[in-house]
Amino acid sequence: MALVIKKEHLGKASLNKINESNYLRQVGLKATSARIRILQLLEQSSTLHFTAEGVYKALLDAGEEIGLGTVYRVLAQFESVGLVIRHNFEEGRSVFERSNGHHHDHMVDIDTGDVIEFVSDKIEKLQQEIAKKHGYEIVSHNMVLFVKSKKK
Ligand SMILES: [Zn+2]
Repeated sequence: MALVIKKEHLGKASLNKINESNYLRQVGLKATSARIRILQLLEQSSTLHFTAEGVYKALLDAGEEIGLGTVYRVLAQFESVGLVIRHNFEEGRSVFERSNGHHHDHMVDIDTGDVIEFVSDKIEKLQQEIAKKHGYEIVSHNMVLFVKSKKK
């Protein structure tokens, strides 16, 4: 699949490419153009949670044509080396996010698919207490609230 970079982006893209390439090599992936661009997108976008389709569309908007199949493959590769975390909030729909090591929980808007992050010390503590009460310690947890907007 051809990678088209708009002329005005060329300077910036080639500068960043060095870092992204090194980064990819560090995690054991060959630095292909598609991987570099998708990684850049995940790093630069203000959106924290992406679907493969969302990544595909954002690349198209930036004037770059990377096939949806390639996007899926690259995201799966990123997942396998721990660059991204895959959430399956809904059956058959994967949402990806950069793994930054900060724990948080999620809410999913059932109408729009929007993903909202939140952290609650109360909930974290309560979960510890519940596990302890049953004679366990928490190894990890995954909490998702499915919500809909109260605004009419
Ligand atoms: Zn998140």
